[in-house]
Parts: sequence; C-alpha cells; structure tokens
Amino acid sequence: MRKLPIDQLSALFQTLDEKEALYIPADDPAAGQARFMRYREGLEMTHALNTVRSAKDFFFPQTENLVDFKLKGKEIEIIDPRTEHEDFVIFGVRACDARSFTILDKVFLADPVDTYYQSRREHGTIVTLACTQPEETCFCTAFGIDPAAPEGDARCWIEGDSLYMEALTEKGEKFLDSVKGLTSECGDEAVRAQQEKTRKIAEDLPFGKLNLEGFNGENMLKLFDSKEWASLSQACLGCGTCTFVCPTCQCYDIRDFKTNDGVVRFRCWDSCMYSDFTKMASGNPRLTQLERFRQRFMHKLVYFPANNEGEYGCVGCGRCLAKCPISMNIVKVAKALAEEVR
Ligand code: SF4
Ligand code: SF4
Repeated sequence: MRKLPIDQLSALFQTLDEKEALYIPADDPAAGQARFMRYREGLEMTHALNTVRSAKDFFFPQTENLVDFKLKGKEIEIIDPRTEHEDFVIFGVRACDARSFTILDKVFLADPVDTYYQSRREHGTIVTLACTQPEETCFCTAFGIDPAAPEGDARCWIEGDSLYMEALTEKGEKFLDSVKGLTSECGDEAVRAQQEKTRKIAEDLPFGKLNLEGFNGENMLKLFDSKEWASLSQACLGCGTCTFVCPTCQCYDIRDFKTNDGVVRFRCWDSCMYSDFTKMASGNPRLTQLERFRQRFMHKLVYFPANNEGEYGCVGCGRCLAKCPISMNIVKVAKALAEEVR
C-alpha cells in the first residue's frame, strides 16, 4: 500500500493528466450537481458522495456514431467513424459503480462482443474511492458490495491527511507506478480502522439488508403474474429518469440520420419505460405502463440473475431512490413482491 499527503492531491492529478486523460468527480456549478469532468488545473474533487450520472458513460456513452455511409454517385462508401481511443483514468469511482462494470461486461462483452464498448474498457483505468459516509439511499451491501473495499484496477481511501492507494490489477500497478515519485510505502492500519467504521455505518442503513431471497428463476411466473404490479406501476410517469441515472441499465436504440451526402448510423440510450421502446412494424407487445414497469424490475431482479449465475442487475447505488419524481424505486418493488416468494 502507498500513501500521499492529501495536500498533494492536485499534484497527483496533474501528474496523471500529463500521461493520460484524467476524469474526476467534481461539482458542476452550471448544473448544481456532481459529475465526472476532465481534470484541469484547479478542479477539485466533489464532497458529494456520488455523481448524479454514473461512470458507465465512459464505456457506454449516451450517444455515439457507429458507422457512416457516404454516397458517391451509385457507390456507397462505408466508414468506421472510430478513431483509436486514447488511454484514460477515471478517479474516484465508488464501489457500486465499480460493480456495475461487471454487469455491463456480461452484456457487452458476451458473444457477439460489442467492440465499441470493448475498446473503451481496454483503454480505461478505473481507480475507485472507498466510501466513508454511505447515505440512507445506499444499499450496495444487499448485493454483496463492500463500500469500504471497492473493486477496480486500483482503490483508494482518504483518511486523516492522507490518500492511501492499492493496486488490484496490472493497470492498477501501472497507475501506482506513474505516481510513485509522489507517494511512499506505508502500512494499512489507518485503512483497516476506517473500513471498520464504514462497515458499521453500512450495517445500519435502512435498506442495507434488503432481502432478495426468492427472486430467482424458479419464481419467475409467480412474480410476473403478481397483483402488486398494478398498484406499484399506477403512478409511474414513464419518464425514464430511473433508467438514465442507473449505472447498470444498458438498453439502446440504433437510428439512421440523413446527411447531405449520406447517412450516419448512431446509437443512443433508450428506456424500457418508454411507450415506443418495443414498438415494431408488427405492433407493440408492451402496450401499458404496467407491462413496461414490470419489465424493468423483472429484468433487474429476476431475468438477469436467472441468466447470470445469480448476479442481480442492480448495485444499490440509490440513484433511482433519489431521483424518481413519484418516489418509486426498486426497494419498494422488491419489498412489495417479497410475499409472493416467501
Ligand atoms: S419509476 Fe419513476 S423515474 Fe422511473 S419511469 Fe416511472 S416515474 Fe420515471
Ligand atoms: S436500479 Fe436504482 S439502485 Fe439499482 S443500480 Fe439502478 S439506479 Fe442504482
């Protein structure tokens, strides 16, 4: 383990940014909220627990061009608009968002591999930051995530007047090597003490022990047919906010945009909460908000774990708890459905 005096944090950021593009969670005064921003001299890390939008944007951006078709007379030229992505570091990712990459990998890196996502994953180094004050909306522990020991390529803890760092992968070793001149070797006593305190806080969080027993493939039909969906979905506005702030939601649409000399094919995030999400030439299989609402939660709590060795499609980041305009969320859904399976 290595440590750095916290007053040297800007020097660390400067050093990293000289080698690779660095992104840190910072307050955006224009938006009045925290988000990941490209580091520039003077930019400071936010004191907010987490960013409003997750770090998934780095690997699965909200919009991206996939292919350009250029018309030249009767010929069509097909152009791959990708340029080689440069290496980059995302610093300060929380434990919940770090786990979301495991979930996204299962989707985008499964055969057939999504090479757009894959390329970004290969170029990105994830440096996580342990939480010290999880909030009441946090329930990452329900999914076996330890907020005091996040995953990632390297992980950090801020304790007292020091930043402690530890590498977990080859990329993480490279990260630590790149700032070796600023850091010194140290023991892990301060980190262990902090972890103990954080874990105690996490234990007492209201939803930290959310019981998900029974949300598995065996109960799929029982849960699908539950009478609870009607009242749970009744007030849902279909606004899609919950899916857009969610670090694990991965639905997208692909569309063509006509330009002067051809067509650009792009993809953009979509939401299963939207009425035209499943609209096809033959009609729409999900005509009601009940069906759309049920799909989102069945996917996260039942279908995804049934197909991915028990891994849920949620990391308990709490963003949907904080942002849904009608105060509906996955915790309320899981609690309401619990009676069906126990
Ligand atoms: S559950 Fe809430 S955030 Fe999600 S679509 Fe419905 S109203 Fe919007
Ligand atoms: S469903 Fe809600 S709590 Fe779970 S990962 Fe998505 S935004 Fe976070």
